[in-house]
Amino acid sequence: MNKLPLLPTSVIGSYPRPKWLKEAIRLHKAGKLSDEELQEAFNDAVVIVLHDHFKAGVDVPTDGEVRRDEMVEFFAERIKGFRFYGPVRVWGTAYYRKPSVVSKLEYGKPMLVDEFNFAKSVSYTENLKITITGPYTIAEWSYNEYYKNKRDLVFDLAKIINQELRNLTEAGAKIIQIDEPALHTRKEDVKWGIDAVNEAIKGINAKLIMHICYGDYTIVAPYLNEIKVDQINFALKIYDYKPLELLKKYGYDKEIGAGVIDVHSRRVETPEEVAKDINRVLSYFPVEKVWINPDCGLKLLSRKIAYQKLLSMVEGTKIVREELKKKGYSVE
Ligand SMILES: [Zn+2]
Repeated sequence: MNKLPLLPTSVIGSYPRPKWLKEAIRLHKAGKLSDEELQEAFNDAVVIVLHDHFKAGVDVPTDGEVRRDEMVEFFAERIKGFRFYGPVRVWGTAYYRKPSVVSKLEYGKPMLVDEFNFAKSVSYTENLKITITGPYTIAEWSYNEYYKNKRDLVFDLAKIINQELRNLTEAGAKIIQIDEPALHTRKEDVKWGIDAVNEAIKGINAKLIMHICYGDYTIVAPYLNEIKVDQINFALKIYDYKPLELLKKYGYDKEIGAGVIDVHSRRVETPEEVAKDINRVLSYFPVEKVWINPDCGLKLLSRKIAYQKLLSMVEGTKIVREELKKKGYSVE
């Protein structure tokens, strides 16, 4: 990792796919574009996403996860033992292909190494983050038709994720984010769910971050310090920063990635608003432990709005850095 400024800015992972990429995917499905041509389109999209992150001034970018239709499906398609029956409705009119576990899960071939290598080759910074969906969320968003219980399924997934993380660090990944947005869904699972995450990251030598977002933070808050990652990033903007009080109550002491951009709203936050919000976070946590990011992935926004939101996030962070500089902090 290269040196980062005070209050490093990052993204959660996903970024809107360019419209032409959606068209390329459609043509590929219709047999009118070869696998190779589709890969070229994905690669071009990664270049564009990184360029948007660069222009906005994001310190720790991702490749926008442009190759992934969905955060569970992508992995279920690549791990042996899953099969797909058909789409299920998840919210409103959105559907996704919910995978089923039909036999013992096994690691197939590397899932993210090519993706990481390409992003690294075109990234403007060494501080590139790669994201991977965690074992609990993959299991929670799948049907279990094979394992005796969910716990056995999750721990087998943890081994598979661990293998992939080893391959990623061998390829040079230095900042890895485990996405576990389902971890705080069920109170009865949360303790062993965390054990499974720890199993998945065991022996992995990288800066490790976990992402959790929407849901009931009271379920997971008492156990957060037990998760063996360096940082957890949270959706905070959408909850008007109320979870900060909860984190303080349980003595949360890792780095915090503070969500300061609401990804469910098309209204673009102003830099001043972002600065004010960051200062609220700083009234709870020491500045050295705070990173700045949106609440969640930006995928569902238009590209224009996603970009403007990132720009405001970075500009707002710069306002706070200036204030800190005046107080004698070294911000570079
Ligand atoms: Zn999220």
